[in-house]
Amino acid sequence: MSSAVAMEATRRRQRLSSNGGASETTEEPAGQWGRAWEVDWFSLSAVILLLCTAPFLVFFFVMVCDQYQCSVSQPLVELYSGEATLRSIWDKAPSFTWTAAQIYTVWVSFQVVLYMCVPDVTHKFLPGYAGGVQDGARTPAGLINKYEINGLQSWLITHALWYANAQYFHWFSPTIIFDNWIPLLWCTNILGYAVSTFAFVKAYLFPTNAEDCKFTGNVFYNYMMGIEFNPRIGKWFDFKLFFNGRPGIVAWTLINLSYAAKQQELYGYVTNSMILVNVLQAIYVLDFFWNEAWYLKTIDICHDHFGWYLGWGDCVWLPFLYTLQGLYLVYNPVQLSTAHAAAVLLLGLVGYYVFRSTNHQKDLFRRTEGKCSVWGKKPTFIECAYRSGDGGLHHSKLMTSGFWGVARHLNYTGDLMGSLAYCAACGFGHIHPYFYIVYMTILLVHRCVRDEHRCSSKYGKDWKRYTDAVPYRLLPGIF
Ligand code: NDP
Repeated sequence: MSSAVAMEATRRRQRLSSNGGASETTEEPAGQWGRAWEVDWFSLSAVILLLCTAPFLVFFFVMVCDQYQCSVSQPLVELYSGEATLRSIWDKAPSFTWTAAQIYTVWVSFQVVLYMCVPDVTHKFLPGYAGGVQDGARTPAGLINKYEINGLQSWLITHALWYANAQYFHWFSPTIIFDNWIPLLWCTNILGYAVSTFAFVKAYLFPTNAEDCKFTGNVFYNYMMGIEFNPRIGKWFDFKLFFNGRPGIVAWTLINLSYAAKQQELYGYVTNSMILVNVLQAIYVLDFFWNEAWYLKTIDICHDHFGWYLGWGDCVWLPFLYTLQGLYLVYNPVQLSTAHAAAVLLLGLVGYYVFRSTNHQKDLFRRTEGKCSVWGKKPTFIECAYRSGDGGLHHSKLMTSGFWGVARHLNYTGDLMGSLAYCAACGFGHIHPYFYIVYMTILLVHRCVRDEHRCSSKYGKDWKRYTDAVPYRLLPGIF
């Protein structure tokens, strides 16, 4: 069925002339959106490598804190000298527990209930907040899905309950997440693999929208990068929106709070570095939920298919590796000098400003179709046209002023500045907390390349005109 859809889309696809008008029909393959139709050996090797190593990498970064006070080199030295073996390290690591399974089941179920059963009311009284039912972007097959945006509300309810428990009810310790951290890792892996496998099987047996599925014939690639574009159960349970935002990103700030509580319990105080990490990351998380409707227009929702990359990544990679700084600070309570703390805060806030303003400029520009003011002037842009997989002709604009005229992805640059600030908050004692900036750099540079490849396929010569007008990607004059 999927290859029939692909062939049909191929037949219908037309090459666009540079001024946006449709010209001759060609046999150019359709669907240059999202993941590939065909897999080369390099991509396949990368996929298999990631599938095999990513779960162990997460285990490694958490285990080294548990057993080696977050020293990344010590276990390697001990393995080399024969003082430790893979078996002895594995045996020392806490394993699955039913307590962790209960905590995680309650957590995920609670987030499902908040997502599905509590329609958003916050948009009714928070000025400027776009919640409630919102439209997503047009899918490759030409559909526009509707989403219930209630992430901010879910975050507020969850954190209000967390606070109420810590202050008044004392049902559980605020260190509960830290205290069950490695057992929780096994539980998140179970859910991550279960949801990815379910999405994979569902794509073959009962896809939500068959026209938005992509099959490559390579089982590993299909499993990892996903087949279905917007898998759903029923009308509203959207896998991408749920798994990306909750349970992972709602949990992010709670995990950090649990780390701070652990510092307090162990040392009798909370370090300024821990406060910085909590505050800077909370800004990022709150920004995400405040702008959840905007998030519907980002690459994750607009172009990526739902497979292991998103399913397992959201359940395991995100909560464990995006919170490494707080974990590190529990084992290494760094108290920063005032100058160091101020520099980290400044870097984090400037990074956040660049990240948010860049994203905001594009959002404003696209929403108003260029009829707005950016840096006090009417924005300049390039007119583009493209076709969706169903053959429909659409028009778009690429802004060439504001942050989008300085470089093509300054939102990524701002994100990287913020990420560096989280790492620098941990001082310079170990490289462990710096894994995050290395990972984010790889992720965002790769994303940059992926996105530009897609935009080039989508807009053709119009994209070339844009890259001629704005030649740099992340750092003007350098890259
Ligand atoms: P962008 O928000 O940059 O979106 C890229 C898309 O914007 C392009 O595909 C194109 O889409 C459109 N576009 C490109 N140039 C222009 C222009 N000049 N004018 C108007 N539209 C343009 O990318 P992402 O969705 O990847 O990122 C969104 C944010 O999320 C970023 O700030 C990023 O840092 C952050 N992020 C964070 C991650 C994390 O793990 N912390 C992971 C991934 C992203 P179209 O087809 O519509 O033209």
